[in-house]
Amino acid sequence: MNASQSEQRTVVIGAGLSGLAAATYLARAGSAVTVLEKSGKLGGRAATDTPRGFALNRGAHAFYTGGAGSQVLRELGVSYSAGIPRRYLARDARGRLHPFPATAKDLLRTSLLDAADKADLLRVFARIAMQRASDVGHVSTSDWIAQTTHRPKLRSFLESFARTTFYSAALELASADVFIARTQQTLQHPVHYVDGGWQSLVAGLRHAAESAGVEIQSAASASQITLRNGRAAGVRLHDGRQLFADAVVVATPPEDVLHLVPAQVAPRLRQTLTDLVPVHVACLDVALARLPMPSQPIVFDVEQPRFMTAQSEFARLAPDGGAVVHLLRHLHPRELADPASERAALEALLDQAQPGWRDVVTEQRFLPRMLAVGALPVANSGGMAGRPSPRTDELTNVFFAGDWVGPEGYLADAALASARAAARLAVAAQSRTLLAAA
Ligand SMILES: Cc1cc2nc3c(=O)[nH]c(=O)nc-3n(C[C@H](O)[C@H](O)[C@H](O)COP(=O)(O)OP(=O)(O)OC[C@H]3O[C@@H](n4cnc5c(N)ncnc54)[C@H](O)[C@@H]3O)c2cc1C
Repeated sequence: MNASQSEQRTVVIGAGLSGLAAATYLARAGSAVTVLEKSGKLGGRAATDTPRGFALNRGAHAFYTGGAGSQVLRELGVSYSAGIPRRYLARDARGRLHPFPATAKDLLRTSLLDAADKADLLRVFARIAMQRASDVGHVSTSDWIAQTTHRPKLRSFLESFARTTFYSAALELASADVFIARTQQTLQHPVHYVDGGWQSLVAGLRHAAESAGVEIQSAASASQITLRNGRAAGVRLHDGRQLFADAVVVATPPEDVLHLVPAQVAPRLRQTLTDLVPVHVACLDVALARLPMPSQPIVFDVEQPRFMTAQSEFARLAPDGGAVVHLLRHLHPRELADPASERAALEALLDQAQPGWRDVVTEQRFLPRMLAVGALPVANSGGMAGRPSPRTDELTNVFFAGDWVGPEGYLADAALASARAAARLAVAAQSRTLLAAA
């Protein structure tokens, strides 16, 4: 992008990862950018809370390196330090813990699978390595797993891995392209637990944005995009103010977009957003004075949709000697969740993996229904390629960024890839407007 947009003004709604990244790209291209964030704190779902010096992300967060997210952070000059998780365990249907067969060494020594399962798992990994992800966007992950192996224990193992990949129990809806692409990515690139929590990424993005000249307003809630002649003219805030803009980037989850875009102008967009399947998880975030069982830091549950990770074993997240443990329950979009039983299920997993944790607990919080992903890529709309575009024909100077937008990546990778795409489209649209006016 070249710096020729000095008369152009953009409002970005939302200061999560995607809003901050989009704002920086736009400002670097010369647009005058204001970011509106309704919360008093930046970061959205990537924010970290720090009670008594423990860095608690809003649910277990791991940065998957080697994808669009890493690329965008590099382009924006955002660096961070991190640790790499190891010593994964799998809990079987009878409640026993085994090495999780993610490495060759653990595959050899695990008692989760028998010899025939192990041989078949090697074949499955080889198939994953050869598979072109985009070829299976129309196949559900449960169908892909069922077609790939008939061995029951191996299927259960792959399903637990897939649930953790998607943050969802809805494998019969979730498209296999995400599972394939993410598995390929993690086989080649390490997963990072970020020192200080994801707030470190937010702080880096904030610094990049402000260095590029972006104005960030927190506690500034956008109420609606205003229109003139069928185009966006700016944004009205809940406090009554109005900001004028040549382009608007909406970097919020889909539910918020429905409030921001006037109902009459974009019926197709509204229908698309209404049809999306959001991904929710129940989270138990726990700070401990010490970790009772350091040898059992990460547990995938092969039987139930649960996952536990003591992230402080690998990253700087707790004061000396202390520990931060995150537990997730993957919810199903078509099943009614009962918060009390979700919490009990997470506490039971913690009782097993970290016995005695109740005696050393310093802080705990239960978030019964966190939005993990704005939209699950689903097989019946072609997977990642079927997600909404960062632009709509119905409002040509409004653009979208978030983990529900665009064909690239999943989770933060999708948020950051779509932020870059939305910013590029906005800059191109602003250039066309300038040329037309010249
Ligand atoms: C429990 C959990 C675990 C996760 N684990 C991972 C993981 O391991 N790896 C990974 O890559 N990703 C993970 N994610 C997903 C990741 O957090 C998100 O993809 C990413 O943070 C999305 O960023 P975003 O900026 O697109 O959206 P958000 O973070 O939702 O930001 C949107 C922002 O818009 C603001 N906003 C909304 N409406 C308005 C309005 N009207 N006016 C002004 N501001 C508004 C919100 O306050 C918010 O700050 C996880 C998410 C959760 C919840």
